[in-house]
Amino acid sequence: MNNKQNIRHLFAEGKPLFSLEFFPPKDEAGGKRLIETAETLSTFEPDFVSITYGAGGGTRKTTMEYAKLLKENFGFEVMPHLTCVGHTKNEILEILEDFADAGFSNIMALRGDPPKGEKIFKPICGGFAYAYELVSLIKEHFPHFGIGVGGYPEKHPEANSMEIDLTNLKTKVDAGADFITTQLFFDNQAYHNFVDQSRSMNISIPILPGLLPVLSFEQVQRFCKMCEANLPKKLEELLENSAKENQAEVGANWALEQIKGLLNAGSPGFHLYALNKSDSTLRILNGLRKA
Ligand code: FAD
Repeated sequence: MNNKQNIRHLFAEGKPLFSLEFFPPKDEAGGKRLIETAETLSTFEPDFVSITYGAGGGTRKTTMEYAKLLKENFGFEVMPHLTCVGHTKNEILEILEDFADAGFSNIMALRGDPPKGEKIFKPICGGFAYAYELVSLIKEHFPHFGIGVGGYPEKHPEANSMEIDLTNLKTKVDAGADFITTQLFFDNQAYHNFVDQSRSMNISIPILPGLLPVLSFEQVQRFCKMCEANLPKKLEELLENSAKENQAEVGANWALEQIKGLLNAGSPGFHLYALNKSDSTLRILNGLRKA
């Protein structure tokens, strides 16, 4: 394996990284849109791209299918996500074997969410309850994989306090994670506080900020409710006072300013939740080129 393929080594080079997140489409039209988006954004040469697993209907088969497509058609370094939802340890080992055989070098290791309508995550018999168990498994059986994990600047919704969540994050990092990608946030101070708190707990791996270019006021309200992320008053007012057709531009400009601020403050790069759409991401990346 070429060292460059492992995101662990990419971070070690010290230059800010830029990554994009896609999700496996549900139908043919969605597949076409994803390919067009990937083609458009490939000209910006992201350091890596990731593709979700399970979230929003993606399955083991579609994540693998589109991970391969993104790698083969566009030459991206692709990091497939993997969750513990509905899988036994043995099934997870099989999936990891498939990813390794297909030539992937990095995995985003996640627990996954409880099913819709349920608040508590219940592992299946022979499965895992927390992401740190998945990280340990990868480390034991596939030590060459670079491992990303999720982090929550405004606390994971299930955790009773930020301190508890950070202690659990530390367990996940000690199990062998190489870097953290954060949940979306709209106020950079949340990220800076999270980094400071993580460092004070001896979590020293890179923390890549995850940014969502807001597409509409309705969408961001839904996302903030789901992730329990704070919507700053100023962004709320900007969106509320914009016509529907201008809200995506407001969202992209907000994300662009967030990224500029984060990079200026020394963040190890940024991760964009591109949602298989290119317009907002293009606006942001072009804005960064001009900056
Ligand atoms: P964990 O790290 O296991 O944490 C879950 C909860 O359990 C937290 O409250 C934590 O504090 C607590 N906890 C952890 N360890 C312990 C312990 N030892 N004892 C007690 N409590 C503990 N979801 C998908 O379905 N598919 C995706 O592709 C996907 N991609 C994502 C990408 C990123 C960057 C992020 C941030 C999230 C993503 N998610 C995805 C959502 C994620 O699955 C959910 O947020 C999920 O609820 C938690 O996953 P986790 O891996 O952070 O879990």
